[in-house]
Amino acid sequence: MRIPCAYANWKMNKTLNEALDFVYEFVPALFSDINEGSVGVSIFPPAPYIYPMRQELGEDSPIFIGAQNIYYEKEGAYTGEMSGNILRSAGASHVLVGHSERRHIMGEDNKTVGRKLARILRDRLIPVLCVGEQLRDREAGKARDVVEEQLAVAWEGQEVTGGALIAYEPVWAIGTGKNAEPRDAQEMADFIRSWTSRFFTPETAATIRILYGGSVSPENISQYARLPDIDGALVGGASLDTKQFLEIAKAIAETGPGGTV
Ligand code: PEP
Repeated sequence: MRIPCAYANWKMNKTLNEALDFVYEFVPALFSDINEGSVGVSIFPPAPYIYPMRQELGEDSPIFIGAQNIYYEKEGAYTGEMSGNILRSAGASHVLVGHSERRHIMGEDNKTVGRKLARILRDRLIPVLCVGEQLRDREAGKARDVVEEQLAVAWEGQEVTGGALIAYEPVWAIGTGKNAEPRDAQEMADFIRSWTSRFFTPETAATIRILYGGSVSPENISQYARLPDIDGALVGGASLDTKQFLEIAKAIAETGPGGTV
């Protein structure tokens, strides 16, 4: 069974003290009401907070800490970059790759995303591959083609052995308050599910969790969490607020993977 997920992308926000305060407030509040196994939570803080947050949570905590970025080389003279080994030794278990801000602000193309994905898998970390079309692609009826190209280039030559997630995040929905129509999110998640079934095997595809991301809030999360091919959400803005992220995580836990309610 796929455990539903509430993943928090903090981007370039919060001080270290604010990040630690979030841990003190969020974790006890989450598990006071719901079972530890009912939702997988991963927080992607700024990189310098990975280690202190992991320490504060403790090794046995069910909360994962992830990295927002990685470099595709194994090690060496790459000033300012971080390898999989560095991230894992600091306490990260997951890595975001292909986020629209990395693609569109930092200029990462599909090939770079693929090289990073390969590094994540080789270094035994769990990737959260973000895919999604721009508004002009959707308006031109090309949303699926864009997502298919992103998937095909990223996964070329790769195998999934230790878990992977794919986040469908339409670029125009990220940080804009304009969340996608649930019908469109389900249609794309269904397409991603069948693409991964063909590319890997149906058994492997069934282990890949598909998240929706793009202006998720406590008010709209249940519309997505109940969709058959969506296993949770990647949340940006609303994850910065403890209360809002708690509401989102609880709503996801209650609905279950691929929306059973
Ligand atoms: C994101 O950064 O992945 C994201 C979905 O942001 P927001 O929830 O703010 O749209």
